[in-house]
Amino acid sequence: MTHHNAPPPTLGCRSAPVLKERGQREVFCGLTGIIWLHRKIQDAFFLVVGSRTCAHLLQSAAGVMIFAEPRFGTAILEESDLAGLNDAHAELDRTVEQLLARRPDIRQLFLVGSCPSEVIKLDLNRAAERLTVQYAPKVRVLEYSGSGIETTFTQGEDACLAAMVPVLPQTDARELLVVGALPDVVEDQMLGLLADLGIGPVRVLPARNIDDEMGVGDNTVFALTQPFLGDTHAALVRRGASHIAAPFPFGDEGTTAWLAAIAAEFGVSDEVFQRVTEAPRRRARQAIAQAAAPLNGKSVFFFPDSQLEIPLARFLTRECGMTALEVGSPYIHDSLHGPDLDLLPAGPQISEGQDVDLQLDRCRDARPDLTVCGLGLANPLEAEGLSTKWAIELVFTPVHFYEQAGDLASLFARPVRRKDILGVAAE
Ligand code: SF4
Repeated sequence: MTHHNAPPPTLGCRSAPVLKERGQREVFCGLTGIIWLHRKIQDAFFLVVGSRTCAHLLQSAAGVMIFAEPRFGTAILEESDLAGLNDAHAELDRTVEQLLARRPDIRQLFLVGSCPSEVIKLDLNRAAERLTVQYAPKVRVLEYSGSGIETTFTQGEDACLAAMVPVLPQTDARELLVVGALPDVVEDQMLGLLADLGIGPVRVLPARNIDDEMGVGDNTVFALTQPFLGDTHAALVRRGASHIAAPFPFGDEGTTAWLAAIAAEFGVSDEVFQRVTEAPRRRARQAIAQAAAPLNGKSVFFFPDSQLEIPLARFLTRECGMTALEVGSPYIHDSLHGPDLDLLPAGPQISEGQDVDLQLDRCRDARPDLTVCGLGLANPLEAEGLSTKWAIELVFTPVHFYEQAGDLASLFARPVRRKDILGVAAE
């Protein structure tokens, strides 16, 4: 399969030494994923078993919905629950009974663990099994943890999808499973490209409704659209499915390489591949060239936050003319991130995990033109004169595949352009 991007660097970052840090971290918790998952899975309800803090986080992150009944909520553990004075399981059963009686549209219920439920060791797995028996076949009850203890905000989606894999039916069909929650419009573009390449049947995890769900088995091949799905990857491999390793579909190069890996697996001819991808590639390149001009020659520093850091560093260095100084990621899995590391030119410090004070010192020393970090670090760094981009925006904005490639470059270009304008005005 030929595709015409810049040749891979002579020396990429796959074998570069990794600075491993295990100190204080500045990240959001996995409950955040509910914000995009509840929009994606249209017959699901996410019931967080947590504290008032968890409820506030969800309310403020999701915005207050006035007209629509939200498909998430919090069963609040009171102090007497935390002290072990109440039977939390009996209370949870009562809450679920009331919820399902009031909301007959719910077909899938996710019990989402939190820091408080983990601290009191509330066994949500047992609760999900008990409630599944009670409400099957109308409602399926699963559980996963969104706790902020030792996790990052994108791990909520990973935990949710990984929880779904064991209950998918068995199949021997040779099917492509595309894994990762994308906005519907982006997912439809991707399905259109795969259909034009003649690849099928294609299934998507998570499906929009439980009735659209797919089977999985030894003949399933799967591709990930998000680089933070390590547990889901492992769960699918345990079910016998095979992963199509590829760079992630960000920018022209990532999208083309991702499609090319799938096309090679399904025996698509070079001629068909070129015909289908030529026009959208041209549009993507033009959009990137226009949007990325302020980025050319600038430097970027990534704090570990979303797990999108490695593929985005590849995009910014190879398609937008930036130099990466440090690329930090909460976790690095060779089977997921290896293809992007191969393409990322050697040079930046690759770091895994975080010791936030040490990393802040490195960032201040490096004085990058752009720092990609979490919300908690962005304001202090801006106050010190550094331009920042909030990593969380990258998950809330459609950025995958060809048609979004220009928008992806724009997200990074905006703070750099603002700094340039302010700099000129101050001179
Ligand atoms: S899960 Fe933990 S980190 Fe997240 S809002 Fe609840 S208490 Fe806070």
